[in-house]
Amino acid sequence: MPPRQNLAQIMMELKREKILVSGCLAGLPCSHDGQGRLNKTVRRLVDDGAAVPVCPEQLAGLPSPREMAEIDGGDGTGVLDGKARVRSRPGKDLSAAFTKGAQETLKLARRHSCRMAVLKARSPSCGRGQIYNGSFRGRLKSGSGVTAALLMRAGIEVATDEEI
Ligand code: SF4
Repeated sequence: MPPRQNLAQIMMELKREKILVSGCLAGLPCSHDGQGRLNKTVRRLVDDGAAVPVCPEQLAGLPSPREMAEIDGGDGTGVLDGKARVRSRPGKDLSAAFTKGAQETLKLARRHSCRMAVLKARSPSCGRGQIYNGSFRGRLKSGSGVTAALLMRAGIEVATDEEI
């Protein structure tokens, strides 16, 4: 059995632990079109103080509204490894900004001791398992967004809003 002080510390850690959630799911108007993507369950978690909302693309300094972006030549893991690029619809390379947003999001996740994240499906930052394929024609491919990939690489469990 652990010493009592250790047990108390563990209980405090568990109480502090929060779920990281995509800001747009909490209703924040941070999507590329300047709107939110409200998910009532996520909003309730935020209102109850159990979840921390974050928008990686806004943390990267990108404005809202902004140009749509998709990942070309791979997925978020490829972007982190320099093997794929995030491009806006006009073709601007946004890989550095998306990587910075992912790193800032991971810092926030660690600050709040998050072990789990619920993120917006199919986003080039937040998507997990499936993202748009880079053609801007609404077609999908396997893979995750840049932030989801970095969080998973750091051992944080990522679910999408469609799984809760
Ligand atoms: S999906 Fe992620 S990056 Fe896109 S608006 Fe929502 S929180 Fe921001």
